[in-house]
Amino acid sequence: MTTTNVDLNNIDNTSNSRFRSVSRIINSIETTEGEGFVVHRSFPNNGLLDIDPFLLLDEIGPKDIAPGEAKGAPDHPHRGFETVTYMLEGKFEHRDSQGHAGKLGPGDVQWMTAGSGVVHSEMPEKEFARIGGRLHGFQLWVNLPRQDKFSKPHYQEIPSSRIPTVTIGDVTAKIIAGNALGTRAIIETRIPIIYVHFTLQPNARTVLAVPEEYNTFAYVVGGQGQFGTNNNQKEVHRSQMVIFENNGEQIEVKASRDTKSPLDILLIGGTPINEPIARYGPFVMNTKEEVYQAIQDYRNGLMGYI
Ligand code: FE
Repeated sequence: MTTTNVDLNNIDNTSNSRFRSVSRIINSIETTEGEGFVVHRSFPNNGLLDIDPFLLLDEIGPKDIAPGEAKGAPDHPHRGFETVTYMLEGKFEHRDSQGHAGKLGPGDVQWMTAGSGVVHSEMPEKEFARIGGRLHGFQLWVNLPRQDKFSKPHYQEIPSSRIPTVTIGDVTAKIIAGNALGTRAIIETRIPIIYVHFTLQPNARTVLAVPEEYNTFAYVVGGQGQFGTNNNQKEVHRSQMVIFENNGEQIEVKASRDTKSPLDILLIGGTPINEPIARYGPFVMNTKEEVYQAIQDYRNGLMGYI
């Protein structure tokens, strides 16, 4: 835990041009994944294929799972991008074709660079599956630039206790990637990315500096708040996603005043890769030919077996 003394309420508010406006608000759509676990998908969906460099955002659950009813995603491949899993409640376990295995509990993050390809399984942890309980988490897919699509598969598994968390007044930021409130994440990313879990108590406000070229969005995990510039604020609530315009270096977030629950958001942004995207299920490459090759390589066992 790190504490920094910055009074965010004293940040100059007169120049609205520095604050980004809202480009679009998206309602996530409930769907199922793997063996049939429930996710709320923001994109790809709604006519939105990606938010370069991001390819997908799923909210896993939230769902109360009865004993023995938990479902997961058994053996499946990935090539050409990264999957980032962030658990809030419940437990998952992971196993892959490289002999790697690990468990993810509340607050833990797994940043998996699939690179040239892995076959993995993402299943509810055995004890959690037996007892049941609440399952809630997120999976984000981050594209890799051409030069990294065949990199060696790599994992960063960070327990909650090692993820920098900063509290300033009524605002808490858990910094998964990038920089926020004067604190740097420990997870390393291939391209510049910011991924911060903010919790704002009712009526709190914060400002986050994000380079103008970063494509940036916020997903509302809970509560409600206002985003955008002072003269054009949009109200958003749970399970909605806000996409920001690239028209400023700062993002202002306000939690609603008349609510009991805090505003809980994931704020995610990154430098666009600006390369062609050819995707088919778990393979994300630059050309169709590379996707066909990935399917062949998987069928021929080149990504291995668990
Ligand atoms: Fe997967």
